[in-house]
Amino acid sequence: MSVAALHKVDLKPKDYKSEVSVVWCPGCGYHGILNSIYRALSELGVDYSNLMAISGIGCSSRTPYFIKSYKMHTLHGRAGPVATGAQLARPDLAVLVTGGDGDGYSIGGGHMPHMARKNVNLTYVLYDNGIYGLTKGQYSPTSRPELKAYTTPYGGPDEPLNPLLYMLTYGATYVAQGFAGKPQICAELIKGAMEHKGFSYVHIFSQCPTYNNIDTVEFYRELVRDVPADHDTSNLGAAMELARRDAEGHAPMGLLYKIDKPTLDERLAAIVTKVGGHAGYDINKIIDLARP
Ligand code: SF4
Ligand code: MG
Repeated sequence: MSVAALHKVDLKPKDYKSEVSVVWCPGCGYHGILNSIYRALSELGVDYSNLMAISGIGCSSRTPYFIKSYKMHTLHGRAGPVATGAQLARPDLAVLVTGGDGDGYSIGGGHMPHMARKNVNLTYVLYDNGIYGLTKGQYSPTSRPELKAYTTPYGGPDEPLNPLLYMLTYGATYVAQGFAGKPQICAELIKGAMEHKGFSYVHIFSQCPTYNNIDTVEFYRELVRDVPADHDTSNLGAAMELARRDAEGHAPMGLLYKIDKPTLDERLAAIVTKVGGHAGYDINKIIDLARP
């Protein structure tokens, strides 16, 4: 559900911190992303009891532990299908998925397009550091060929995936990109994503100082450029052009694309209603139906 439809509470960013200690390495960009999530939740006034945080496996997939919310830490790459099921079963909750480049685009690479094309009503924040961090530094689908990682000591043999183009091609209805070193911008993009009704995708570049020595904070600062102020966010062609990067290879930072389309839960509810069934989550109706 878009958080716009939920009742609001007045909480500070620190109020969303769980009792679990954050265990990421010093200097990891994920600290900045987590703070952006806390800030976005506070500004949106999200009640913990209306929030479900879901992840797969990886350093970034630890995020739900650090947020006060309902949560599920699922299998490697499978956050998407679990989150889809959770959203369909409980369309009254806001669903937030967090995960990394390996989890989302390698092991879970078969799930991303379907969440996008079905317009599942949830927010997916992908932390991209171009490496597998938790499993100690293997080459990922977004690694640059220059990266000498554990599994590619002489550099990589292939070109990195372009996640923005991938998501735009498959029909995501909200696509944005940020950088962990710009937490305020990330918070705004996450906030917009959680307000959006439909599949909202926020791609965030992040440094992994422990295993990726080329995608540094300095590298990302040079890489990103603000989306032009006159960019039309309803124009798919223009969004794809930005996602392809400019002549100097700069990556866009900001909101690229946003349109309204019926969501998967709305379409399923319409079908259920059409055939005379009961659609939607209503605990009293479910109890009534279960009565002998
Ligand atoms: Fe962050 Fe990398 Fe450490 Fe994982 S291994 S916590 S991604 S710096
Ligand atoms: Mg990674």
